[in-house]
Amino acid sequence: MRLKIITHEKLVFDEDVDEIYTKGTAGEFGILPKHIPIMSALDIGVTKVIQGGKPRYFTTMGGVLQFKDDEAIILTPTAEDGKDIDVVRAKEALARAREKLAEKDAELDIKKTEAAVARALARLKATMSN
Ligand code: ATP
Repeated sequence: MRLKIITHEKLVFDEDVDEIYTKGTAGEFGILPKHIPIMSALDIGVTKVIQGGKPRYFTTMGGVLQFKDDEAIILTPTAEDGKDIDVVRAKEALARAREKLAEKDAELDIKKTEAAVARALARLKATMSN
């Protein structure tokens, strides 16, 4: 089956895969070839694919997954191949966001800052798994 991961900026991935595991807003789920058509909103997290018996990891930061006719399309605001992630930058972003949350500033946009934490954690997870 095919998997395409598409962001506003680029086509991050477009290859044949054997298995897909991703994080929907209702929890993690997997797709094998010949799966029935599905459409699911995605959470910020890691999408794992199995290709020739080997895993590869991508961040997928929300958006939607559509699967039909043995083709999965993930449309997401931001995605990265785990091997392209800058670990230092992700660790710094995580520390910055956690610091902000700890300050308990009344003006802080908590949802936005929590999303920054989730993005950084997803990046670190996708990197460590590679
Ligand atoms: P930062 O605070 O480090 O910018 P962020 O979570 O706010 O992190 P995003 O707004 O999600 O960053 O992404 C902006 C752009 O930077 C996107 O193109 C994204 O792929 C890229 N990017 C962000 N963090 C990393 C990283 N650690 N490694 C590689 N690319 C990254």
